[in-house]
Amino acid sequence: MSTIAERLRAVRAGIPADVTLVAVSKTQPAEAIREAYAAGQRDFGENYAQEWRAKAEALADLADLRWHFIGGLQTNKVKYLAGKVAYVHTVDRLELAQELSRRSAQKGAVARVFLEVNVGGEASKEGCAPEAVPELARAVSAMPALEVVGLMCIPPPGDDPRPHFRRLRALRDHLGLRELSMGMSADWRIAVEEGSTFVRVGTAIFGARPAKAP
Ligand SMILES: *Cc1c(COP(=O)(O)O)cnc(C)c1O
Repeated sequence: MSTIAERLRAVRAGIPADVTLVAVSKTQPAEAIREAYAAGQRDFGENYAQEWRAKAEALADLADLRWHFIGGLQTNKVKYLAGKVAYVHTVDRLELAQELSRRSAQKGAVARVFLEVNVGGEASKEGCAPEAVPELARAVSAMPALEVVGLMCIPPPGDDPRPHFRRLRALRDHLGLRELSMGMSADWRIAVEEGSTFVRVGTAIFGARPAKAP
């Protein structure tokens, strides 16, 4: 069986140096994050505010660790994240952005955010409809404590991800933004080919997720 350090090395070997590897540690114990950190990994993605808070506390001694919030975000959870995570990848609506800006300003922080785009137009999926993204980008860019760095997507399961990645890239270019958060364990190679600058990889680094959060 391979170790976290070995799997991390294998994924890193396929990612250009200017692409940020976000190790997605949801449902993994804090010790697994420590192990990846010891192997040189600094960027970690979490999906659940409660779970993230507990781990952030347990790992507070790792001062240069960067947290990425990548999960669906309820407005009432924003207060826990503001000023404490380096990036939020899942801003998909105005009220959420307003609350994040307000709370970040209170902390004297600027939150770097990705706008999450529902590229597949799935009814049940989070993310802003592609045609509404320019307007959301304009509004969010004007908020004092937010910096819109780019766009994020999760292609519909079962679809060929490539056309979705291409569409997100075209939209990013159209808006003149810098970054693309796309690619997971199953499709990060394709995402990198299509210009991703932040890949979010969980199981390929940490192995299968435990059935329940620890
Ligand atoms: C869980 C998750 C990932 C990582 O998924 P893997 O398939 O384990 O690599 C990436 N992005 C988001 C938004 C996730 O929720």
